[in-house]
Amino acid sequence: MPGLFFILFPLYITFMEVILADVLGYCFGVRRAVDTATLTLENNNGNKVYSLGPLIHNQVALEMLSEKGLCVLKDDNLENVKAESKIIIRAHGVPPETLKKIEENKCEVINATCPKVLASQKSAAKYAAMGYTVILAGDRNHGEVVGIAGYAGKKFILIENCSDAEKLPLFSADENVVLLSQTTFSREEFKGISEILQKKAQNLKVMDTICSATRERQEALEALCPKVDGVLVVGGKNSANTKRLFQIAKTNCKHAAFIETADEIPEEYYLLDKIGITAGASTPDSVIQSVVARLTKK
Ligand code: SF4
Repeated sequence: MPGLFFILFPLYITFMEVILADVLGYCFGVRRAVDTATLTLENNNGNKVYSLGPLIHNQVALEMLSEKGLCVLKDDNLENVKAESKIIIRAHGVPPETLKKIEENKCEVINATCPKVLASQKSAAKYAAMGYTVILAGDRNHGEVVGIAGYAGKKFILIENCSDAEKLPLFSADENVVLLSQTTFSREEFKGISEILQKKAQNLKVMDTICSATRERQEALEALCPKVDGVLVVGGKNSANTKRLFQIAKTNCKHAAFIETADEIPEEYYLLDKIGITAGASTPDSVIQSVVARLTKK
């Protein structure tokens, strides 16, 4: 009697659930800068449009803007820029000398500085004009810090951490001092710095100018991790806030991967039941959507 053979093929039926973090992707300032650049490029009447340095820390977004005609200027090198060109200022702003230089070159300034950074620049200028010593807590190589420093007058002091604060001398009793922070500075470090300075300056005004955008993305990710089997962190590999999100995902979830585009989704993720997605503050919506689409269609 002929045997009856059944060949059983493995059958995988997966019902993958994709959950987005409550807060992810573009922060208000980056979205505003990208929208400003897009609008400027769309309504441009033949003049060249430049950004002073890469507009945001995301290669995909930069390529999209480049296709629309955006040219990137290195630093504030305006030598080969024709008069009447438009120069977009990035979200983290520039010092006043740079704005002056652009205007002297007869180019048009399209100022996409984030309103939160503009507020810090204005505070630095206001207190410098009132004779205060302006102390800024921040990273000396960051564009935002260089910009604010340009408004902070001659008595400006930059400190990067608590150890720098410890090294400062005592301020005299009649000296007015104001402490500001880079918008993306660590909250814990800033707290430590302000406690140290309170012992060194009798007339100290502390202005916490740290932006909540980074913290909101981190907290939303922490809330997401326990609900999923793995997290995909989407964003530019050179974006500091995205790298930090990846650290948090690695600490709080069994599977964590840092990807720039949907092409980089690791194969094992297609076998997971629940995948969480977060994205850095400079990751375009279209990239997040393409990651979701790839996961749910495969
Ligand atoms: S992180 Fe905050 S300060 Fe920086 S661009 Fe975004 S919204 Fe503005």
